[in-house]
Amino acid sequence: MSQANEDLAYKFQLEDAKRRIKEGIEIDAAGCWFWKKLTVNGSAVMNIHGKRVHLRRYLYISKYGALPATERLITACGHKGCINPGHQLSHTHFMAEISPYSHPKLPQ
Ligand SMILES: [Zn+2]
Repeated sequence: MSQANEDLAYKFQLEDAKRRIKEGIEIDAAGCWFWKKLTVNGSAVMNIHGKRVHLRRYLYISKYGALPATERLITACGHKGCINPGHQLSHTHFMAEISPYSHPKLPQ
C-alpha cells in the first residue's frame, strides 16, 4: 500500500473509531460518560486499529497528549466507570492537588 493510501486507511479507521465511541457513550446530567458496550473487568474497551484499547486512557491521551505507561489515571468525579477525559486526573496531578474538583476521592 502506498503511503498516501495508508494515511487514508488510518484516517478512515480513526473516523470510524470516533463514530463508534460516540455511539457507545451515554452522558448523564453530571457530564459523566458511561460506556454501554464491551467492558473487561469493569474497564471500557474497544478495538481500534486492530488493537484492544482501554477507552478511559485512550480518550485522555487523545485529549491531553501523551501519558507515561506507568502513570495511572484517577476518576476525579468519583463516578466509577466514567470515561469522560475531562473527569480524569493523572496520578501525579492528583497527588499535587491541582484538582479542579473540590473533593477529589482517593482511589479505591
Ligand atoms: Zn465523571
